Amino acid sequence: MEQIGTLGASPYRLSDLQLFSGVDTDILATRLASCAVLRLPAGERLEDTFQARLYIVLSGVLNVEGEIRAGTSDNTLTKVYPGESVGEQSVLDEQTNLSAITAVETADLLVIESDLVWDLIDHHNGVARNLLRLLSFRVRAANALLRRRQKLGEFYRQLSLNDGLTGLYNRAWLNDVLPGLVKTAHGNSAPLSLIMLDIDHFKRFNDTHGHQAGDAALRTTARVLSSALRPSDFAVRYGGEELMVILPDTPETAALMIAERLCKRLRTAVVFEDASMPLPQVTASFGVASLQAGQDEHALVAHADAALYRAKEGGRNRASL
Ligand code: GH3
Ligand code: MG
Ligand code: MG
Repeated sequence: MEQIGTLGASPYRLSDLQLFSGVDTDILATRLASCAVLRLPAGERLEDTFQARLYIVLSGVLNVEGEIRAGTSDNTLTKVYPGESVGEQSVLDEQTNLSAITAVETADLLVIESDLVWDLIDHHNGVARNLLRLLSFRVRAANALLRRRQKLGEFYRQLSLNDGLTGLYNRAWLNDVLPGLVKTAHGNSAPLSLIMLDIDHFKRFNDTHGHQAGDAALRTTARVLSSALRPSDFAVRYGGEELMVILPDTPETAALMIAERLCKRLRTAVVFEDASMPLPQVTASFGVASLQAGQDEHALVAHADAALYRAKEGGRNRASL
């Protein structure tokens, strides 16, 4: 990087620069005549960005890293073209400009020191107005970027809390949410019930019809659960072929009836691997438990698991307390 001269001695015209558009450039030209013009060769990095200064690209192209500008993509790597500027924000808030600035093509840069920028703002309404407009674009772009990132975050969060095969909530979601549900139930002295279910002889089903068919049976089971529940209930894939239904505000007797209804619906639900051929129905065993005084979520799950074991022992394809 070297200083190749001053603006006054250069062929560049102020009226071509964004910051001075619509401003009487004759007066400005005198004030800016002694400003330095730097040449930054292609591939080189601007070294003195720690000073609060304004740089205006006269020719060539810059790459600015870490600054958000209108129309930029998520990586916040932006190109700055002739007429555009870098560093106005660091001049205004007197903070160091932390962006890494490199020349993509050899660039001539007009350097305006912070004091002079303030002077221009004080004495030339047009400059102040242009600067405001520029910054307002930046704020807008930054907001848009934040919104995009937020959406992406929600998407990944969703992905990490749902089971890919069935679309039900997964174990991570359960670990996140169940303690809170238990606490709320205790706090409100409200009932809370769990149904734990496990597909019957599923190993045999897989062995006979193949793993793909097994997956289809799991999806069918999940659909039977989801379509039968109230909006306040939750269906979870606990692991493998074990699923769980959480029923807030539901006492044990009602939960048992719901489990029996689900059991009946499952044994009549048709499983399709593809549209051409229905597979045999599957059944499941259901264990029901309700939150007891002083119980935590682990004890509640253990009780539902014990009830499931009793349903298996009792002959499968049934619900048990
Ligand atoms: P039980 O009636 O006592 O529950 O017998 P079971 O055969 O269902 O029980 P076991 O625990 O022996 O076998 C569970 C089977 O579930 C074995 C495993 O391959 C299958 N399984 C678990 N997760 C999946 C899955 O995501 N897809 C498929 N297709 N099968 C699965
Ligand atoms: Mg099992
Ligand atoms: Mg099983």
